[in-house]
Amino acid sequence: MDLVHVERLEPARRSSLDRWRPGDAWLAGGTWLFSEPQPRVRRLLDLAAFGWAPLSVTADGLELAATCTLAELAGFAPPPHWPAGRLLRQACEALLGSFKIWNEATVGGNLCLALPAGPMTSLTASLDGICTIWNPHGEVIRVPASRFVVGHGRNVLRDGALLRSVTLPERALRSRTAFRQVSRSRLGRSAAVVTGRRDPDSGETVITVTASVTRPVQLRFPHGVPSAPELTVAIDEAAPPYFDDPHGTSAWRAHLTPLLAEQARAELESGRP
Ligand SMILES: Cc1cc2nc3c(=O)[nH]c(=O)nc-3n(C[C@H](O)[C@H](O)[C@H](O)COP(=O)(O)OP(=O)(O)OC[C@H]3O[C@@H](n4cnc5c(N)ncnc54)[C@H](O)[C@@H]3O)c2cc1C
Repeated sequence: MDLVHVERLEPARRSSLDRWRPGDAWLAGGTWLFSEPQPRVRRLLDLAAFGWAPLSVTADGLELAATCTLAELAGFAPPPHWPAGRLLRQACEALLGSFKIWNEATVGGNLCLALPAGPMTSLTASLDGICTIWNPHGEVIRVPASRFVVGHGRNVLRDGALLRSVTLPERALRSRTAFRQVSRSRLGRSAAVVTGRRDPDSGETVITVTASVTRPVQLRFPHGVPSAPELTVAIDEAAPPYFDDPHGTSAWRAHLTPLLAEQARAELESGRP
């Protein structure tokens, strides 16, 4: 769609943070920005100008640049000692857009848009990702990905702040995982996503719920895989308000979520995918 209110398109620079003004917007893949009118946007700052490497294997784990596309992420071949690496592709496949969307949509754009059905929120929260955020005047802060999205369309970024990258820790990538996703229709947006993960060293089990709720809900069991009743109690105690939209009623999502969580739990307990 033509954005008729936009007056300028400029390459983003680090100095753009200090020259931020009303009407500015970071441009990542543009799959959402160009999908509907943006009457408040006057200037787009194109993040591609930073030229960040999309994926970097470091001593800490796997660093995903905010500008890494879903296609680049899905195409990454994780080493065999990172069994959780299969989640990368599973999460990308939970965004059921066309190949055009896959080739342009970015990890950062998906997180920053903060839709409940954001698959990058599911992925990065469940793998204990750490978001690196650039604030104006050179300040850099780090926030757990599980706390980056705070509500439907809301995240922790201050006006004009920039999500630079998300680091997935090596320890989490060595975990065993279980992934469940349900949509109302074959190509529909996710109604519920549940990810289970078992830490390779401590045995801690982490169940992460997204899509059926407006921000990630994480249940942690430090002593290993919980029993089915323990999981039910934990979900009841978390009592998340379930999301209601054309992709699923809150009652249906409240029914689905514990079922998917139990499937993920049972898969981790059995040790078989
Ligand atoms: C057919 C179709 C299906 C879709 N399905 C889904 C779906 O299932 N789930 C879902 O979550 N979304 C879906 N979307 C919405 C959208 O395409 C995706 O969320 C996509 O990942 C957004 O990424 P992008 O790089 O294109 O972001 P953009 O459109 O470029 O930007 C999105 C927003 O984030 C801001 N932003 C981008 N990057 C940064 C950054 N690094 N730091 C700070 N702010 C930033 C932008 O200013 C803008 O406000 C769909 C869209 C279409 C057209």
